[in-house]
Amino acid sequence: MVDRPYNFSAGPGTLPVPVLEEVRDGILMLPGVGASPLEVSHRGAWFRDVIGEAEANLRALLPVPQTHRIVFCPGGATMQFSMAAMNLLRGSGLPAAYLVSGSWGVKAVAEARKEGDVLVLWDGADEGYRRVPMPAEYAVPEDVAYLHFTSNETIHGVEWDAEPVAPAGVPLVCDASSDFLSRPLDLSRYGLLYAGAQKNAGPAGVTVAIVREDLLERVPDGLPSMLDYRTYVGSGSLHNTPPVFAIWILMLVTRWLRETVGGLDAQAAADREKARIVYAAIDASDGFYRGHADPGSRSRMNVTFRLPDEDLDARFLAEAAAAGLIELRGHRSVGGIRASLYNAMPLEGARALARFMGAFRAAHAAAAPARG
Ligand code: PMP
Repeated sequence: MVDRPYNFSAGPGTLPVPVLEEVRDGILMLPGVGASPLEVSHRGAWFRDVIGEAEANLRALLPVPQTHRIVFCPGGATMQFSMAAMNLLRGSGLPAAYLVSGSWGVKAVAEARKEGDVLVLWDGADEGYRRVPMPAEYAVPEDVAYLHFTSNETIHGVEWDAEPVAPAGVPLVCDASSDFLSRPLDLSRYGLLYAGAQKNAGPAGVTVAIVREDLLERVPDGLPSMLDYRTYVGSGSLHNTPPVFAIWILMLVTRWLRETVGGLDAQAAADREKARIVYAAIDASDGFYRGHADPGSRSRMNVTFRLPDEDLDARFLAEAAAAGLIELRGHRSVGGIRASLYNAMPLEGARALARFMGAFRAAHAAAAPARG
């Protein structure tokens, strides 16, 4: 096995080494196919099996009930911001409701506003996006097209522990890009859930959308085919050439989750433990490391924190990289440090980061500016 640094990138994020090895081994010529996965028709038997297994794995893992359809779209979660609103808001005669707990929610709202009226029921901007709302802080009207939330805000490191509750009859719509497949979900509660693959599910290039089938009756006619969920459902996501390579790797990652990890309960336990280890290093630091998210809204996937000043942030990043801990820089809009602990990050990676944090603090705390 290659000796690689631990990669804390927020996305595209670290992938399981056995999957990368399988990709390496298959990239020139797949046994039984005689060509690279990059060179064969998406309408052939090989890809039919790949996309079939990808769907079956997702169905088994989450699990996905028979009431819901799984489709594979291009265009990232950003295209889903538009697609969700085009399909379920445009022409509905109702506003859509959004709960905004970070930058991705802001972007989702901006795209939805192009399709219809949007009610922002709660927005954490004034507090700098440190938490999700408490149930008493927002009320979801009964006459809205749907309620949208972002289950994990990747930039701020703020995650919903459990989904918000919508009144009966209001479909719940979720951008789950950065915590998809990190825990089992009760999808019967969701009308639509979408997730770009490039954190927990595979490489960039494919986005999974899981839609309750009866909602497709609400889709207005006249949408461009590629922006209409019914096109994907009707064609098995094969209306045009899909991102074959990305779907192949998604299939391998979901197979790894089933066969090697042992399912999403096991994955969730591992993810909780990794996050516990890194947050414990923050909490034990006497304020040297300051976490961004309120403890009750801390993301298990993206741990965001700062050091006493920006010079120390920069030194931390440089010394961490030298110690084999890479891609820890916070998003440019918020700065600081962000450690992403996606599914493929081994427990030992979280331990190595926590050890490094302790040693760095011991070396630099005395010289750090005093805080009042
Ligand atoms: N939503 C969330 C929660 C994200 O983390 C991201 C990407 N980091 C996006 C949406 C946008 O995804 P994409 O770049 O695939 O459009």
